Amino acid sequence: MATFIVLLGPPGVGKGTQAKILSEKTKLAHVSSGDLFRENLKKQTELGKLAKSFMDKGELVPDDVTISMIRDRITRPDCEAGAILDGFPRTPAQADALEKMLTEFKSEVSKVPYITAAEEILVERTSGRWTCPQGHTYHAKFNPPKQAGVCDVDASELYQRDDDQVETVTKRIRVYLEQTMPLVEHYRKAGKLVEVHGDQPVEQVTKDLLAALDM
Ligand code: AMP
Repeated sequence: MATFIVLLGPPGVGKGTQAKILSEKTKLAHVSSGDLFRENLKKQTELGKLAKSFMDKGELVPDDVTISMIRDRITRPDCEAGAILDGFPRTPAQADALEKMLTEFKSEVSKVPYITAAEEILVERTSGRWTCPQGHTYHAKFNPPKQAGVCDVDASELYQRDDDQVETVTKRIRVYLEQTMPLVEHYRKAGKLVEVHGDQPVEQVTKDLLAALDM
């Protein structure tokens, strides 16, 4: 059976960074709903234009479009063995839809690592974040690039995401508490939740995640 891992945790806790590392180590595809929206935005697709209005405000994109975007993505051949889902599901309706999709594929959510950290850390981390157009991420204080403003991997110019401004970050955390927190209880009841402390060096969080996942 395919292995679908749902990474849960507030904005800024390091989900994206960890999802990329886990994907390299486990060879499972990395599926990030935020990255998919940002790709659509860059290509100026209808979906991108729709998503932008919500993303700029720190709000969630409506469930129906988000669910169909993820359905398209996880039916691609690179997800046959499973995937690390980063940023999806984010609402109970999305979690239900995911369950139905995976049942169709004769699969299910394997485990749900829940990465935690205190709110003030999240704001500090997110508002210092720098990204390259290919998605490599840095932090001005915790994970600076070798040369300021330039990606270590592909030398492209780094930028700050529009939605990483302090006010938007605070809003995203509030949206997370209201709409995504119920999923923690949902997956805990299902016996799939494993908690990992996000307020540690990146390598230690990865170690804890791999141990929690038995991988
Ligand atoms: P992220 O990169 O995961 O922080 O996502 C950036 C933004 O994309 C979020 O603030 C939302 O506006 C949107 N987004 C990402 N994933 C979802 C999702 N599963 N449901 C709704 N909106 C999402």
